[in-house]
Amino acid sequence: MKQLIVITGASSGIGATIAQAFSAKGHPLLLLARRVELMEALELDNALCVGVDVTDAEAMKNAIATAEAKFGPVGCLINNAGMMLLGAVDTQDPAEWSQMLNINVMGVLNGIHAVLADMKTRKTGTIINISSVAGRKTFPNHAAYCATKFAVHALTENIREEVAADDVRMITIAPGAVETALLSHTTSEEIKAGYQGWKESMGGVIEPTAVADAAVFAFEQPQNVCVREIVLAPTRQQ
Ligand code: NDP
Repeated sequence: MKQLIVITGASSGIGATIAQAFSAKGHPLLLLARRVELMEALELDNALCVGVDVTDAEAMKNAIATAEAKFGPVGCLINNAGMMLLGAVDTQDPAEWSQMLNINVMGVLNGIHAVLADMKTRKTGTIINISSVAGRKTFPNHAAYCATKFAVHALTENIREEVAADDVRMITIAPGAVETALLSHTTSEEIKAGYQGWKESMGGVIEPTAVADAAVFAFEQPQNVCVREIVLAPTRQQ
């Protein structure tokens, strides 16, 4: 059955690739990110693209209501929007922590808040949160980013336990290093160079399609099967 799939952060990298993968399966889409022109440039069929900042709960709710009026209830929400601003805690601008906490944690909660009550009432639905291997283990200069991704793991598992009896699936997908624009927002050139060297030391990283395939796999299981967590990373990543 074709169901409305909502994808945040669909203007770039993993989110754009997830959008392409679900579109290829024939699902109608609601794509959310700030750069609406990049989502429109994907030229996907039955895709409503709305310029939304995930920290704006009201804007997210309104966009979802508009898409549901057009395509029917949300079958799957994929909270993918995120930002990684690496830095050492003693020197990093605290505004960068707020930005990551707001987007990576509050943005995910805002998305869940917009769809969960209806999924519980309908006794069906899937929410996939894109966390990270950095939500399971720590890395140098990742303190604030890791804090946000550990939070994504925690809140997904917590809500999964709360809504299991309502047949709503809560899924975490935790990628290792993927080739996207994620690193580009880090302000320290030294840290960026170090991260780039780390990627090269493992002979390159994985492509966003690996994450998109995992999301499609988890979603396509029968509704009584919840793939709780998928961790996928370059084979050589420690
Ligand atoms: P990109 O930088 O390529 O994409 C990030 C996406 O998030 C963009 O579409 C951006 O859209 C969106 N976004 C950022 N801030 C906001 C906001 N305030 N409101 C709405 N959308 C926002 O990075 P990735 O594709 O790599 O990142 C996707 C997710 O994958 C993130 O959660 C990231 O933490 C996670 N991840 C990535 C890994 C990697 O190695 N690349 C590894 C593990 C996890 P726009 O700017 O248009 O708003």
